[in-house]
Amino acid sequence: MLSLSRRSIVTSTALAAAVGLGARLTISPAFAQKTADPVKGFYKYKVGAIEVTALYDGIWEKPHDPAFIKNASVEETKDALAKSGQTTDFVPIPLTVVVLTINGRHILVDSGSGGGQWQPTAGRLARNMAAAGLDPSEIKTVLISHFHPDHIFGLMEKGTNKPTFPDAELIVTSTEYKWWTEPGRVEKLPEARKGLGQRIQAVFPQWKNFTLVEGEKEVAPGVRLVNAPGHTPGHAAYLVASGNQQLMISNDTAYVPALTAPHPDWQGAYDQDGPLAVATRKALLERVIAEKMMICGAHFPFPGAGVFQKDGAAFAFTPVKA
Ligand SMILES: [Zn+2]
Repeated sequence: MLSLSRRSIVTSTALAAAVGLGARLTISPAFAQKTADPVKGFYKYKVGAIEVTALYDGIWEKPHDPAFIKNASVEETKDALAKSGQTTDFVPIPLTVVVLTINGRHILVDSGSGGGQWQPTAGRLARNMAAAGLDPSEIKTVLISHFHPDHIFGLMEKGTNKPTFPDAELIVTSTEYKWWTEPGRVEKLPEARKGLGQRIQAVFPQWKNFTLVEGEKEVAPGVRLVNAPGHTPGHAAYLVASGNQQLMISNDTAYVPALTAPHPDWQGAYDQDGPLAVATRKALLERVIAEKMMICGAHFPFPGAGVFQKDGAAFAFTPVKA
């Protein structure tokens, strides 16, 4: 966003000067967004008898940064984006959240980024949930993949931290919860993560109904937690099975497939343990392919689902088109 915003501001300042307004004209973030929102911000599909609703939260148009992929250059990143038919002006990191409807019960998987709490070009989950005919008060269970802002800030209101789904049971791995909430954790976090750590420690220990999962247990009828560590210590995927169909909700395991499918060895700056994240990614994708499952991911192109195939030593991703 930064470079785009700067360019927009320069343009607006020149425009403002030309029309005699001085430099005080402000530009809304929507003006700077380069990626069109999906025409329809929700998409429904079935896994056996379970209904999946994909909800678009928004996008991070991430400026290129040599630190973004630990073992690839900006040029290599641009090359991978170009080969997948995407813009190379920035790294498009869309965000999709899914709701599972099982026997009439709605289960949210992660909570999106919350309004105005992550990127100015995101925070559309509530709007798209309403458009899909889902009532937030009916969300009584939230399966959480990990404690990064784009996955949990939708649980808490900006400024006050007031719970957005106060009656919901939150389910997460015991490992993730304990890592982020252990005494002294905030002090040990890198500077850029201290605010996140403080917020987690302020909100989650007070939450009415938190279930910590050890091992790979069934967390809802037909839904099993799958340990997928590396991106964070307790990152989880969720495997949905109904009838003879399966869907792997991979969350951030495969991150942005345009980059990680052809280059599964690439370690993202946000992969806390890079080598472990790579090993987890490869094992999960091999399993998805071997068992002929559909897969969805939080940062896959909307509607966030598709299939992987082997492509030599790497993978190829074919997205579902909304
Ligand atoms: Zn994420």
